[in-house]
Amino acid sequence: MNRRDFLKGALTLAALAPVSRLAAKAGIDGDKTSDVATGTQVTRRRYKETALTVPLLGFGCMRLPQISVDKPDVDHVTVRKMINRAMKAGCNYFDTAYMYHDGLSERCLGELLQAYPRDSYYLTDKMPMWFAKNSGDVERIFQEQLSRCKTNYFDFYMLHALDTANWELAQKYKAYEFLARMKKEGKICKLGFSFHDTPEVLQKIIDAQEWDFAQIQLNYLDWELYRSREQYEILTKAGIPVIVMEPLRGGALASLSPDATGILRKAAPQSSNASWGLRYVASLPNVLCVLSGMTLPEHMEDNIRTFSPLKPLTDVERKTLDQALATYRKQLAVPCTACRYCMPCPVGVEIPKIFGLYNQYKISSNKWLFRNNYNAIPEDSRASACVNCGKCMRHCPQKIRIPEMLKKIATELEN
Ligand code: SF4
Ligand code: SF4
Repeated sequence: MNRRDFLKGALTLAALAPVSRLAAKAGIDGDKTSDVATGTQVTRRRYKETALTVPLLGFGCMRLPQISVDKPDVDHVTVRKMINRAMKAGCNYFDTAYMYHDGLSERCLGELLQAYPRDSYYLTDKMPMWFAKNSGDVERIFQEQLSRCKTNYFDFYMLHALDTANWELAQKYKAYEFLARMKKEGKICKLGFSFHDTPEVLQKIIDAQEWDFAQIQLNYLDWELYRSREQYEILTKAGIPVIVMEPLRGGALASLSPDATGILRKAAPQSSNASWGLRYVASLPNVLCVLSGMTLPEHMEDNIRTFSPLKPLTDVERKTLDQALATYRKQLAVPCTACRYCMPCPVGVEIPKIFGLYNQYKISSNKWLFRNNYNAIPEDSRASACVNCGKCMRHCPQKIRIPEMLKKIATELEN
């Protein structure tokens, strides 16, 4: 651990010390993690055996509030309030990326986090290999990110969305070697990767290099569906802490279907669907931080409540969640998480919006509502406008056969 990590962890522990308690050891490979919680602050988890602690709830900045639907600019006024609220609750982990909000997420954090001492929060960013045409681009993008974020270093930094293709690009352009050099120079504290592929590819990547952490898609729907359980187990066995992305599958598990929601409400009338999903992943002991893409202040309040302190799921609650999941799975049509990696489509098809509406329709069977919302999409951006070029599929982490699915939707619902 470098000096900055030590200071940040030690400061946090010192601040919490009078009222904190160390929760039961989490029991991975002995005692690598432990929880630190108070009633007013989100539970923190220790990074391996070090003094560094990370809030279990991280602020994912991929879906920040926007000024309006037509104006993609990030709503700085609301984000400022949310950052202030997060910091007050000890939720001091901010996750951004080069392409979130077309670069505006990095810029927004760069501006608004200036209000806080650099040692008081963690800033995470990622290298998008698909934007690089050579090794020089890797360095250029990294420097651009430092400048957008108005910082000299990143606390956590990742190779973004590694799959077979992006890992090959990373190797070709020696991205790991460059980032390892940045780590030596103090511009990166912890080096890891985010991941979207099979457990077999994951194993290859962790065998190839040394990693401080990995970020994977983990939620109760994907645990078996997307083979997330195997990924989690591989990383745990390798002693690599896990950061969770898509704990609510792009918000889908926050809304669920009426039938599935009914099962959860009956068991806990006061708990939101989101809190069930977040508690599910946060109960896993090798999870260091759970990223939630909080778009509204209300989301943040609910999440902070869930994590202050975290109450791991009981066996009875797990059974309830299993029942809700079984009900929900019967109704889900497209496994889209609305991550927007497939965008922009060269002819302008609104892919995630269409899939979101289609899933809503399949769950509610409300054709009228679907048509109403679908007709608000310009005609040349609807499913039938797809020319089957295949570009979007190369970037879809969920491996959805997008053109086929669009064709199906157009045939089923456009006429
Ligand atoms: S396959 Fe269709 S939806 Fe995908 S990028 Fe090409 S035109 Fe757009
Ligand atoms: S289709 Fe795939 S890439 Fe596009 S938003 Fe959905 S999950 Fe993301």
